[in-house]
Amino acid sequence: MSEYSNPPQANLNPEAEAHLSGPLFQNALKTLNEAAKVVNCDPNILVRLQRPRRCLTVSVPVRMDDQSVKVFTGYRVQYNSTLGPYKGGIRYHQNVDLSEVVGLAALMTFKNSVLGLPLGGAKGGICVDPTKLSRAEKQGLTRRYTSEISSFVGPTKDIPAPDVGTDQQTMAWFMDTFSNEHGGFAQPAVVTGKPVEIGGSLGRNHATGLGVIYVCERAMEMNQMKMQGSRIVIQGFGNVGSFAAKFASERGARITAVSDVSGGIFNGDGLNVPELLNYVKQTGAVKGFPNSQPISNADLLELECDALLPCALEGQIDTHNAERIKAKIIAEGANGPITNAATKILDKRGIFIAPDVIANGGGVIVSYFEWVQDIMSFFWDEQDVDAKLKGVILKAFDNVYKLKQEKAIDMRTAAMAAAVSRLEKAMLLRGLYPR
Ligand code: NAD
Repeated sequence: MSEYSNPPQANLNPEAEAHLSGPLFQNALKTLNEAAKVVNCDPNILVRLQRPRRCLTVSVPVRMDDQSVKVFTGYRVQYNSTLGPYKGGIRYHQNVDLSEVVGLAALMTFKNSVLGLPLGGAKGGICVDPTKLSRAEKQGLTRRYTSEISSFVGPTKDIPAPDVGTDQQTMAWFMDTFSNEHGGFAQPAVVTGKPVEIGGSLGRNHATGLGVIYVCERAMEMNQMKMQGSRIVIQGFGNVGSFAAKFASERGARITAVSDVSGGIFNGDGLNVPELLNYVKQTGAVKGFPNSQPISNADLLELECDALLPCALEGQIDTHNAERIKAKIIAEGANGPITNAATKILDKRGIFIAPDVIANGGGVIVSYFEWVQDIMSFFWDEQDVDAKLKGVILKAFDNVYKLKQEKAIDMRTAAMAAAVSRLEKAMLLRGLYPR
């Protein structure tokens, strides 16, 4: 306990704090507060960790194809930079609002901390349905958003990356706009998740799915199970889910069911994953894949299996279905697929959860590698990137598992406890007490 034994009181004007009331952020705060108790976190440090440092809201005018001007609302939330420059993705989605971005920025802070990266946490977004924009409109939107936040980001300040609704091309436009506005010199290290041709990293595209499988394999070992011959069920067959399926089947697992927004497919003997990947490339969905039976997304989650990998959306397992989940292990590929209350039920039932902040950390770990490579202007081969990813993600996972055992707590609380502990030490060393 420090010399400041009474934590300062927060401002309780509800309007001033409306952006702190979103469900995602409130859920994160619950875990944060529980974890802070476990590691006996100084209340003066905790009160700082419960608030974002900086929330930026910008207007983004775009000339549409019909020559009219539409103004979109964009955000960049810089949550905490104790451990290094801010880092976090940019989301284009019609549900984006400041409270969601605050929640996502907080999660990035704890994720980067538990993974041992020298990075703070941030997130950005624009409230827009990107599927309704033409390529030219999306480019215009990205370039103007970049200009609006440009004095707050940079290779040593805040390094964005892709998230839902944004991709490599979006990052290329972001990097180009930022570089042109800062002297016209190429500054690849301002964003990650870029195309390889302009400073992206090999291995970035499959990094999250591969990380999920490294973690799942280690969780199986810890529970006296083996990936070889195991039955795995995957919800979501986008970037994360499809690469997780590929890497698990290459390790001898049977992928018995997968799903996407069109529905699910099941084959108890295991789906042929290489053929499925080709099928999805051609048809755009898993539905109708030969040698499979249809299954609903709800039934898929409740299938008997060794590992369940939710790789689609948040809130998929809650108090309504937690009692019926039959997987032995759940590795969270998506962000927040299991609610807080469901975590407690699953934990009591002996189901092992590899929490999202570690299990899907492969993306930000290789983003960190991309940033390092850009700064060095020296690029690594894919095997090197994959091996380094394995080292970082499993080190974090093993540390969290040790803490779980020592303190007899669930993995999600343990992951947050490890994150808080590292942030607290750094804040004390830097003297970041509120004064
Ligand atoms: P994506 O858009 O590539 O894929 C999402 C998949 O989920 C698609 O197959 C889609 O059809 C499916 N889906 C959507 N609604 C569904 C529903 N109701 N039921 C079943 N499936 C549904 O996205 P992604 O990049 O694979 O991200 C998936 C999740 O992983 C998100 O929560 C994202 O935040 C998280 N994540 C992604 C990365 C990354 O590097 N891509 C990193 C960390 C976390």
